[in-house]
Amino acid sequence: MNVVRLSAGSAAALGLDAFRRDVEVGTVYAMVGRGPCPHGCSFCPQGHPDSAACDRLSRVVWPAYPVDGVLRALRDHAPEGDGPRRLCLQVIGGEDGLADARRFLDAYRATGGGLPVSVNAAVSDRATATALLEAGVERLGLALDAATPALFRRHKGGCDGGWEARMCLIETLARVHRDRISTHFIVGLGETEEELVAAMARAIGAGATVALFAFTPVRGTRLAAAAPPDPGHYRRMQLARQLLVEGRATTADFAFVDGRLRALEVPIAPSDVARAIRTSGCPDCNRPYYNERPGETPYNYPRPPSDREVRGALATMALSFPGSVGGRRREHEACDG
Ligand code: SF4
Repeated sequence: MNVVRLSAGSAAALGLDAFRRDVEVGTVYAMVGRGPCPHGCSFCPQGHPDSAACDRLSRVVWPAYPVDGVLRALRDHAPEGDGPRRLCLQVIGGEDGLADARRFLDAYRATGGGLPVSVNAAVSDRATATALLEAGVERLGLALDAATPALFRRHKGGCDGGWEARMCLIETLARVHRDRISTHFIVGLGETEEELVAAMARAIGAGATVALFAFTPVRGTRLAAAAPPDPGHYRRMQLARQLLVEGRATTADFAFVDGRLRALEVPIAPSDVARAIRTSGCPDCNRPYYNERPGETPYNYPRPPSDREVRGALATMALSFPGSVGGRRREHEACDG
């Protein structure tokens, strides 16, 4: 492996490129492994061999850089200063990708690199997962992406035994390796809010970290013509996730009508919304512009949102709460859609 791909923002944060950045990058995102990825997920350009977007993950460009240059930049990067405080390896492909990830990790450690490392990979067995965690991976991400077995089959094919097998592996590992296992859900793959809340509650209940992504149509993929999720749908799922993570709600506190979240039996404050609409996942993972262009209202805020953005997000949720925020029911101040 002579080259490694970095997200454009990560390359700029390490001084390897001059991409414009107006928000801090909390994590260096590196893609390892050789495409095309055999899993062929419907939304991912890495799974479409003849895709014109094979240098992308989601809408982000990931240029390739010589491995030695990247390792030097990581070594010289001062984690205590401004800038990335985590390294995340996005592993594409199967065994080959994992082998590349191990080699990159070993080389990084050999340079004295001290950033905590996350690895997001299609690991399907406990032994491989445990070996990665014992090899110095601080957090292991096993993406489910889809909220149900049927959607998993539709969008991720027969990936590694299916949704239930992956959820069981996540639960088993999360119970043993507290705070070291995460999973990803992509909002907008056809799930109902009730289905996604149930899936999130199951993973969070086992102690796994849940990261939310907004479906982003990418040219050259099977879903290139599909639409990104409705902002209200996304905001409600962010709030539900936050309340589940903080143990402030159980699935019994969510009232659904036709699968859509309509009401919460938990009073919330603006500060709850402010936390909920931030990027979710491993610590310092903020994924700037991963799901939207600069200038558009972020699905995941990579920085603290303003009071106005928080009010807009709350209005967009169009939810009812007992006692509401500030004692009165808020209706549509200014949507952030
Ligand atoms: S949550 Fe972020 S840092 Fe963690 S595995 Fe996923 S993309 Fe990487």
